[in-house]
Amino acid sequence: MLRDLAKVLVTEEEIKKIVTKVATRIENDYKDKELVMIGILKGGAPFMMDLIKQINLPLVIDFIRVESYFGGTTQGELIFRKDIEVDIANKHVLIVDDIIDSSRTLKMVIDLFKKRNASSIEVCTLLDKPSGRKIEYTPKYIGTTVGNEFVVGYGLDYDEKYRNLPVVGVLKEEVYKK
Ligand code: 5GP
Ligand code: MG
Repeated sequence: MLRDLAKVLVTEEEIKKIVTKVATRIENDYKDKELVMIGILKGGAPFMMDLIKQINLPLVIDFIRVESYFGGTTQGELIFRKDIEVDIANKHVLIVDDIIDSSRTLKMVIDLFKKRNASSIEVCTLLDKPSGRKIEYTPKYIGTTVGNEFVVGYGLDYDEKYRNLPVVGVLKEEVYKK
């Protein structure tokens, strides 16, 4: 698996540091607040699972799985594969994702949670890809920023594979030709 990478962008050591840093901020920011962390499946799961172990708060977790389709317009359609099961009304919601690219999917999830009367909604992402933005959005918690390239590992897939890599990297050209 690792040998399919042309380069490593974020090492295991760097991921550990990111997790600790972000978890510390979250712990400080959500003291005395009812925190619900919502991971976006499947990509956000590894980051979410590492994060929660380092946040010493009585938080609640849940997961959502969505797919978005966009035609010629920016008005997309969000298809729910799995909705959350907890009630987020009057709760402080923190969405956890692997990467924010166009931010279109994210925007629709935020709008939905707003309608469900969450007290606050923030976003925590392992990776930010600002070059891909179609909708302006700056997540509050960002692990690190990546350039305009397709990355895999630590939740991120290519054709559903490579999610289990312990690092984030870029695949070799030849992998796409298989
Ligand atoms: P968006 O922000 O464009 O609405 O959606 C971001 C989603 O697109 C991410 O959660 C991820 O599933 C996928 N995505 C965006 N950029 C990449 C990338 O570089 N690699 C992988 N594997 N998925 C990506
Ligand atoms: Mg995703």
